[in-house]
Parts: sequence; C-alpha cells; structure tokens
Amino acid sequence: METLQKDNYLLRVISDDGGILGLACDTTALVEEARRLHCASETAAAALGRTLTGGALMASLLKRDQRLAIKIEGNGPLKKILVEADSNGALRGFVGDPFVELPPRGEKIDVAGAVGKEGFLTVMKDLGAKEPYSGIVRLRTGEIATDLAHYFTESEQIPTAMALGVHVDPTGAVSTAGGFLIQTLPPPDAARVDRLVERIGGLGPVTRMLRNGRTPETILATIYGDIPYRILEKKALALRCTCSRDRIERVLISLGPQEISALIADTGEAAVTCEFCRAAYHFPRQDLERLQAEMQA
Ligand SMILES: [Zn+2]
Repeated sequence: METLQKDNYLLRVISDDGGILGLACDTTALVEEARRLHCASETAAAALGRTLTGGALMASLLKRDQRLAIKIEGNGPLKKILVEADSNGALRGFVGDPFVELPPRGEKIDVAGAVGKEGFLTVMKDLGAKEPYSGIVRLRTGEIATDLAHYFTESEQIPTAMALGVHVDPTGAVSTAGGFLIQTLPPPDAARVDRLVERIGGLGPVTRMLRNGRTPETILATIYGDIPYRILEKKALALRCTCSRDRIERVLISLGPQEISALIADTGEAAVTCEFCRAAYHFPRQDLERLQAEMQA
C-alpha cells in the first residue's frame, strides 16, 4: 500500500516590522522516501528525518543557489549524520548506520541515544565565495533541533527556536515529519519575545500538530498570534541527489593511479554505491583502464 503522499513544502514568513522571521515545513513524503532508500530503522529514520527537515529550514535562509551541509558526529551507535540542502529545496542525506534501533524512551523515539550526547555539529555553507564558511559547536542534547538552535545562538549569534519531528507508524513507515524555525532579528523586543516563547512552549510536539491536520500555514499563524506578518515564499521540497557517473569517476580518479591498478589487478572491476541515494555505479575493466590511461596522459 502506498503511504499517503502529502506535499513536501516550506513556508517562509516575516512580521510586518521585519523583526521576526518564521519558517515551517512538512517533509513527510521526502523523509519516508529517505527511510525507504536507506532501509532505515525507526530510530535512524527519525534522526535522518529530523536532520533533513532542519536542513530544509536552514537552507531557506540562504540566498539563491547557495547550499549548506549539516554534519553531526556523536558518540552514539548511529556514528554520523550528513545532510546537504540547497536554497531551491533539494535535499539529500545519510546516516553512518541506518540499522541502529533503540527502544523508545516513553513515547519518544530515542534519537539522542542513537546520536550520542557528546560530539560535534558542523554546518558548512557554500555561499559561492572562494572559501566555504564552516561553523562548529558541541552537541547539546543529541536531539538535533536543540543542537541546531544552539548552533545559531552560539555560532551565528541569532536567537533561534527550532522544532523538528518525525513520527513512524507501527508498520515502520514515516507518517508525519516536519518542523519550524523562528528567529528574532535586532533590535530585540523583550516583551514580544516572551510572548513568542510562551506560545512556542505551549504548542506541543510538531508531529502531533501535523497529525492533527495542522499545516505549516496554521502552525505559523498560531506562533505569530496577534503579530501581523506576510508570506515571503512557499516552495516545494524534494529529495534529490546530485551524483552522476561523471562525479563517481572523479572520485575514482582522486584515489590515484596505484589504487586503480590495484582494483584492476584484484577484481578487474569497481562497484561504487552513492552514500546519499544508494545508486550503484559499476565500472568494468575497460572503464578502469580508460581512467588509468587518462590519469597517465
Ligand atoms: Zn546519489
């Protein structure tokens, strides 16, 4: 049975005075697609799905054609999470061990247990400049949303509230995924920030809101309350990989001539699987010999 294909989309709004930026998204279908691609367990799917959703939100703060990567390396059994996202709504990602399954803690999937509470979160941004920007912070909780919010406050000095959620149904499929991000821009209005924090605190889990039929539109409407705002953008999100045979060839070339010779001598072929989308690329002997000749030329 096909799972319900909701739209993957993100909404970006701003208060009329320009002081509060709000983003919310529904990523249910793309997180389910990622879970199936990686044959991910419930725990791994939740960790990857939260990071993909966080990537979608954060990439929407970038300018056109800019991109970013989020790398989470904790001391838990998941080992690492890598997500790449661009400002056009394309996402891809993988985890170190997609089969890690931990018992739930109460009603919650134990993402923090899988990620680990010790480790680092790195955000790399390709802004089109020569040197990519990179910011690194220690993990706070391993729950991902608080870690990403902490990254914003610590590394970029922007007060940020973020919620990310993935709900997995009893069959193991992702039934809802989504999140929101709220940033207050200077000058701060303490009274208004207090009201925002209070409303956000009273929302409950984002997956419960989505399961109850709430949308990015109505979630942001509740958070803004009496604060007037306008919609800046509504855009589609999609799981999309940028791998190709050409790119994989370049990876093989980067291994160096000795490694290629060893592959030819050993099995006479190479099989490379893209970590992001699991696409398999096969290079028979004549392809490896051609690469070898190109490298020598
Ligand atoms: Zn790929």
